Amino acid sequence: MSLILHLKAGREIPILRGHPWIMSGAISRAEGNRNLDEADIVAANGTFLGRATVHPSSEIRARVFTTEAGVSLDAPGIRRRLQLAIERRQRWLPWGLTTAARIVSSECDGLPGLIVDRYADTLVVQLLTAPWESRRDCLVDCLKDSLHPKTIWERSDVDVRRHEELEPRKGLLAGIPLTGPVHFIENDLRFLADVEEGHKTGFYLDQRSNRQCLTRWITQLGKPRVLNVFAYTDSFGICALKAGADRVLSIDSSASAKGLAEKQLALNPDCDPARRDYRLGDAFDTLRQLRDAKERFDVIILDPPKLVSRKAKLQPGLRAYKDINLLACQLMNPGGILFSFSCSGIVDRELFGKVIEGAARDAHRPVQFLDHLGQPPDHPLKPGFAESEYLKGFVVGF
Ligand code: SAH
Repeated sequence: MSLILHLKAGREIPILRGHPWIMSGAISRAEGNRNLDEADIVAANGTFLGRATVHPSSEIRARVFTTEAGVSLDAPGIRRRLQLAIERRQRWLPWGLTTAARIVSSECDGLPGLIVDRYADTLVVQLLTAPWESRRDCLVDCLKDSLHPKTIWERSDVDVRRHEELEPRKGLLAGIPLTGPVHFIENDLRFLADVEEGHKTGFYLDQRSNRQCLTRWITQLGKPRVLNVFAYTDSFGICALKAGADRVLSIDSSASAKGLAEKQLALNPDCDPARRDYRLGDAFDTLRQLRDAKERFDVIILDPPKLVSRKAKLQPGLRAYKDINLLACQLMNPGGILFSFSCSGIVDRELFGKVIEGAARDAHRPVQFLDHLGQPPDHPLKPGFAESEYLKGFVVGF
């Protein structure tokens, strides 16, 4: 017996526009075997809308993975979608110059709840939703067959799993155990992914195109003095040094990130460690101290963690974005360039732009918006699914 979820009248509209999520409140009734984790989604007028993975108690009750009838997320279905995602990345990415990318980006690749990142010969898998628990072995087989990795590692230690009553999980899924951070190349620079303990799956792959953009600006500006705030392993700082920055001051509160940043810098002989200073501390306090000490910079990068995690936190989060951008404005030399990012899905591009505008106004610094920044093509956006555009940034000229 199958499972059919019937939607309330009108609730089909976002689905028809491409939104994959069906919230529990949008469903009028479930028909069939409620123990199944896949269902047909049907509009109030009986029209078939798509097929979705399901979790019976999650607020996001179902996630549509196809609008075709008769398609399932069984072994052939997973294999086909995975192959398509891999082929697309092979066409788009300059493999050779770059050996790391997101191979599967969840809903945006028609595989809701699944992330697969590749760092050289290592694959890192993140399973965010319950239907993947019974499909883990099948997924591992498909990944082995299509990419022949040395290691497949699981990093399903993420909070969102709690919504589907899943415990955090990490460890070896297949191949050779890890022996430390994984080395990979991005545009001729050597980087390290701390796959076992690092943020996300070990590295911020989603900033790749923005690292390239920063590199172009630094080259253009000559020998700027750079401040990299929320640096993590200082990948932006390394790009800046390689592109000719005179000095880079990097700030983060994580001692382990600093340790990895030192190792990462040492891998790149073109980057002179004497030109880089990595200061451990709270970014807000450190920026205030720098401002009061009359330090000034030509390029500032602000890449804070998600400061708005849910709607209830919108106002304090926006205030924090404004504070940090205001401090950056006060620290900026005339003619300088600010790279300001937000990875909060709830804060859309327009709202984030307004926050930066407000910060510049309060600092009495007239600014120009010079460029829009976002996600690279291996973290694609899905039309109709605004949540898929979580990373946004502005290049701001002073
Ligand atoms: N720019 C980085 C990613 C930044 S992620 C990159 O491209 O790799 C956000 C970082 O902010 C994390 O490294 C985290 O340790 C740091 N962080 C979070 N809160 C902080 C605070 N109050 N002060 C300083 N660093 C902070």
